[in-house]
Amino acid sequence: MTDVKIRLYVEHPMGAGQRLALNKDQSHYLFAVMRQPLGARIAVFNGIDGEWLAEVSKANKRNGELELVSQRRAQQSPPDLWLLFAPIKKARTDFIVEKAAEMGASRILPVQTDFTNSDRIRQDRLQAHAVEAAEQCGGTYVPEVADLAKLSHVLRDWPEDRKLMFCDETLTEEAGAMAALSAAGKGAWAVLIGPEGGFSEAERAQLRALPFSHPVSLGPRILRADTAAVAALTLWQLSLGDWR
Ligand code: SAM
Repeated sequence: MTDVKIRLYVEHPMGAGQRLALNKDQSHYLFAVMRQPLGARIAVFNGIDGEWLAEVSKANKRNGELELVSQRRAQQSPPDLWLLFAPIKKARTDFIVEKAAEMGASRILPVQTDFTNSDRIRQDRLQAHAVEAAEQCGGTYVPEVADLAKLSHVLRDWPEDRKLMFCDETLTEEAGAMAALSAAGKGAWAVLIGPEGGFSEAERAQLRALPFSHPVSLGPRILRADTAAVAALTLWQLSLGDWR
């Protein structure tokens, strides 16, 4: 396989010989930052058609163009796993989105809980982080980052066949995540991580009572929300996901 150093996510259908117009940011990155010449080869993916080898057919810093050569790798979609988390400080929220994309979450949903630290997010910025993470980690899929929504609304509209790994910091180790996940079995899942202040008593009671909820402990120490997100995704991937 031709060795390529650059991978780009593009929103175009793929097919051999097809020409693909790059937007301003992609053109700037490829031709001003990475100084790719005419004829240079890079990898591109669109989240549907796998990874393709593409050749620079117009090296313009504002509106470059690529020509698709051949498919390098088949599409690899992630397991059906959502991550719900309450946004925290900016850099830590960015970290959660980046790690969730790398670790194979298929959808990322920032949710507002009773004690959420922030009541707004920049969805476009977080989506850009998810794209960058997929480009870096070799994934062929970019998880959608949803707009901030109230946790109560997300739960009200919950798909009935999706299980929820409710990470509850007040549980004892007896509710260990690995055993709970294995017992609940495969299928569509979501992980829920609370904010710095944790869940309110009312939320906790509601979350424990939901028929699709599986309350779990992540061990004897209280983890920061960003650490908890990575730990929970790791445990889920080990128990039920696509890690072999
Ligand atoms: N303020 C809370 C406290 O002191 O008890 C801690 C909240 S913790 C920083 C943020 C979130 O990470 C929690 O709401 C939970 O979802 C998750 N979390 C952290 N440690 C956990 C643990 N040991 N077990 C389960 N979930 C945990």
